[in-house]
Amino acid sequence: MNLLVLGPQGAGKGTQARRISEAYGIPHVSTGDMFRALDDSTELGRKVKAIMDAGDLVPDDVTVAMIQERLAQADAENGFVLDGFPRNLAQADALDAMLGAIGRTLDAILFFDVPDDIGLQRALSRAAIENRSDDTVEAITRRLELYHRETEPIVEHYRATGKLIPLHAERSIDEVWDEIDDALKVVS
Ligand code: ADP
Repeated sequence: MNLLVLGPQGAGKGTQARRISEAYGIPHVSTGDMFRALDDSTELGRKVKAIMDAGDLVPDDVTVAMIQERLAQADAENGFVLDGFPRNLAQADALDAMLGAIGRTLDAILFFDVPDDIGLQRALSRAAIENRSDDTVEAITRRLELYHRETEPIVEHYRATGKLIPLHAERSIDEVWDEIDDALKVVS
């Protein structure tokens, strides 16, 4: 199953993507996690960290190349759950082309919709637990602004495919999981 989770900061994408990964045996491919894992002692690692700490987007060429390489790995052969990518229309087009070239398509796009104030609160409480250097009020506000400007337009791109599944992401973790599990039983 080839899946995508889409939605603003603090919507709970990462939490549910990890759960999907476990339940369905497909890798959770998170661009944020991959960027955070880059080695700070390399030039690329330092550049990416500075961009992330400001809440800005890493350049598309870097991001697309990283995803292309990741999806070609053996564990993604039977599917994946993509989280944090695509984040703009250029990345969405790159993903469509990438999957088209290997004869695959997305099976479902899970859309997590929550109001900004709830997302901001959730992201800030995560900051207290996870010690993420980009979970400051400034960086989250910047990411939300970029979400509305760059990422939200791709919701319509995916709605047009008829595979967009809207979720009530303001509900509890277990309630959202039940919605996802019900939807995926139909898809898979
Ligand atoms: P959140 O969901 O809270 O925004 P992520 O872990 O998805 O957090 O992303 C953290 C940061 O990683 C982003 O602010 C950005 O700098 C970088 N990043 C992640 N995914 C992408 C992407 N697809 N394109 C460009 N930059 C990205």
